[in-house]
Amino acid sequence: MTYVLETKNLTKKYKNTQALDGINIKLAKGNTYGFVGQNGAGKTTLIRLITGLSFPTSGELYLFGQTGEKQLQQQRKRIGCMVETPALYPNMTAYQNLEIQRIQRGIPDKKVIYDTLELVGLKDTGKKKVKDFSLGMRQRLGIALALINDPEFLILDEPVNGLDPIGIVEIRELIKRLNKEKGMTILISSHILEELYQTVDHYIIISHGVILENLTQAELNEKCKKHISIKVDDVSAAAAILEEQLHTMNYQIMPDKSIRLYDYLEDIKSVSTALSRNNLIITGISLDGDNLEDYFIRRIGGNKCD
Ligand code: ATP
Repeated sequence: MTYVLETKNLTKKYKNTQALDGINIKLAKGNTYGFVGQNGAGKTTLIRLITGLSFPTSGELYLFGQTGEKQLQQQRKRIGCMVETPALYPNMTAYQNLEIQRIQRGIPDKKVIYDTLELVGLKDTGKKKVKDFSLGMRQRLGIALALINDPEFLILDEPVNGLDPIGIVEIRELIKRLNKEKGMTILISSHILEELYQTVDHYIIISHGVILENLTQAELNEKCKKHISIKVDDVSAAAAILEEQLHTMNYQIMPDKSIRLYDYLEDIKSVSTALSRNNLIITGISLDGDNLEDYFIRRIGGNKCD
């Protein structure tokens, strides 16, 4: 399978900082990925390597199956990228900003400007200057600049940073539309997991330059789902008791031999009574399940910002 992006043991070291430490990721065509990590985790560094703004210390980078600096440079024409604060001309309109970008990129057809403004929901801004735009409108114009070459792979570095809830929803809808209507592969970074929730279908969690987890939306939901976590001396016997005496099949045996029970959430006592009545030794029983930010903080091991 050819991936839009693949990295093999990618590292980047600045003088005293290991910004990326052996990154292995694969991004498949048509998926949307949330790239989540606290400040300083390495998100921007990876994006700079992908877009050719900086070079890896070691490891390999493939774009659309190609590697080697010359080929990568060629493949980068298929990418659109917006970094945190897009460089916009405040005294110009949205159209004029895009016109400059069109000329710089050497795109002959002026129609792309209208098409792109329509795509990001800014086609009716007329003579309004960018300095009078809301932050959300500016971000969407920044995304428009990245879209003008009709990229197959779009990278957005912290596009919802500082936006209010309405602005976040606007960006969320735009990303979904680009993915659905154009089949665009999208990588979007954020330091807040909650902001990306339901915007993307995969999450890549990075901390201190290391990928901690790569999971789908469904897997994330599963991990955050409320449940009773049970630890007993005999897992098979406990499972039989759940089924036969508590009449539930709604449980899972985890790799660490704990049981996750998704029923009886309001009645842990009945569960512990049934288990101990059958002479099982309970070493732990508790109500578990995270909200998204708790989960994220637990995964990165403490401070969200360091
Ligand atoms: P943020 O959310 O704050 O943008 P980030 O996840 O994008 O964070 P990076 O900007 O990639 O993190 O930084 C990763 C690490 O590399 C940090 O410790 C940062 O201080 C360091 N770093 C980044 N750029 C440089 C540079 N040009 N010179 C030295 N160190 C750098």
